[in-house]
Amino acid sequence: MLNFTKFERINPEKRDVLQRLKDYGEVYQIFGKHRAREQADRCMQCGDPYCHTGCPLHNFIPAWLKQTAEKNMDLAFALSNETSPFPEILGRICPQDKLCEGACSLNTGHGAISIGAIETHLNERAFENGLKPKFAPLTSGKKVAVVGSGPSGISAATFLLRRGIEVEMFEREDRAGGLLMYGIPGFKLDKTTVDRRINWLLEAGMKLHLNCEIGKDKSVESLEKEFDAIYLGIGAKEGRLPKIQGEDASNAYLAMQFLTGIQKRNLGKKNSDFIDVKNKRVVVIGGGDTAMDCVRSSVREGASTVKCLYRRDEANMPGSKKEVVNSKEEGVEFIFNVSPNKIIKEGDKAVGIELLETTLSQADESGRQRVKIIEGSEFVEEADVIIFALGFSPEAPKFLTQLNVELNSWGGIVTNNYQTSNKKVYAGGDCQRGAHLAVTAAVDGREAAKEIIKVIS
Ligand code: SF4
Repeated sequence: MLNFTKFERINPEKRDVLQRLKDYGEVYQIFGKHRAREQADRCMQCGDPYCHTGCPLHNFIPAWLKQTAEKNMDLAFALSNETSPFPEILGRICPQDKLCEGACSLNTGHGAISIGAIETHLNERAFENGLKPKFAPLTSGKKVAVVGSGPSGISAATFLLRRGIEVEMFEREDRAGGLLMYGIPGFKLDKTTVDRRINWLLEAGMKLHLNCEIGKDKSVESLEKEFDAIYLGIGAKEGRLPKIQGEDASNAYLAMQFLTGIQKRNLGKKNSDFIDVKNKRVVVIGGGDTAMDCVRSSVREGASTVKCLYRRDEANMPGSKKEVVNSKEEGVEFIFNVSPNKIIKEGDKAVGIELLETTLSQADESGRQRVKIIEGSEFVEEADVIIFALGFSPEAPKFLTQLNVELNSWGGIVTNNYQTSNKKVYAGGDCQRGAHLAVTAAVDGREAAKEIIKVIS
């Protein structure tokens, strides 16, 4: 260990740009074993590891880095899976520069440990060697319904099954995985990795009900009667609009509409929601990871030009830096410090977007600088397709009222230590905390599962 002066930080290799634009295959290669060991060997094994604090799951990062460096791969795998419900997925999709790697003591000098890449490597290597996550026999006599099969639902199901509690999962879509399946593009996360985790839950005894909407295909009464507890991990899928004139144009879309249409097509499903952007000028409004997913997907779909419009500057972008770098490599143009003012329409179609230039003033409570519009700075950006990637709000489906679950002013589920106003019902992830990261949804699923186990055991 401590070999950070001997070995420099190395990122996993990426597929050549021209190659990767031809398909939706993952961009990053997985570390080979020698590279992973060498990179893990750079760790300083800090007494008070900031990476552990920076990781929302508080993963035992230095411990599994040490075991990886020392070739104890079984132990590295066990330690990595102890706290995380799907480490090989989060190693791929977490914005590490803002979390574990951003907090690494080496980040300001020699370069942070490549934590995410090592996490993915050690798990994929373990799977190749036949290792699997462990579950307990379902002997507790207790049964929990998990509504939603996204990151928080999968996480809750994982930690409940580990304690021998029966789980039935209800998903209104035709495939499990939620955002991991239909939101995040395949070039960041291959869908077989999501199916693999779901299959292990099924092997552990979980029952999965697809195309099943609560209140329609499964009544609220039967849900309350049949289960000892109910966990709601239904996400926040309602895309936000900019609330500007012309946003109802027939060629202006929400990010998730665009991404889901592509993913369904890629999975071989017929879908009328597919939005064809081939040879079109695409403008994406927003600066987070979902905006990057949209611009990078547009390039792969053959758009003639792809522009990302963001109201702050590059330094204040909310998403992962590596996604911005990847977008630039793939030919996306960024226009910073602009705010949408109105959509210019001809008939029902948008032909452009009027923008106002912005400047930044002192930081707000979140630490990001406030946006100030420069009056009289209007200009028009022409577009054939406009995509809004401005964040998500919870949907608040009707069955929440039937369950007597209290909502707050923005439609989020009110909880006290994950328990809702209905004592049998728990909630976590985006539907409860507001749209956030897959890793924070995983934390909520895990912590809610612990609380449920405490109450029903
Ligand atoms: Fe880092 Fe995310 Fe893995 Fe935690 S879960 S160690 S934040 S990559």
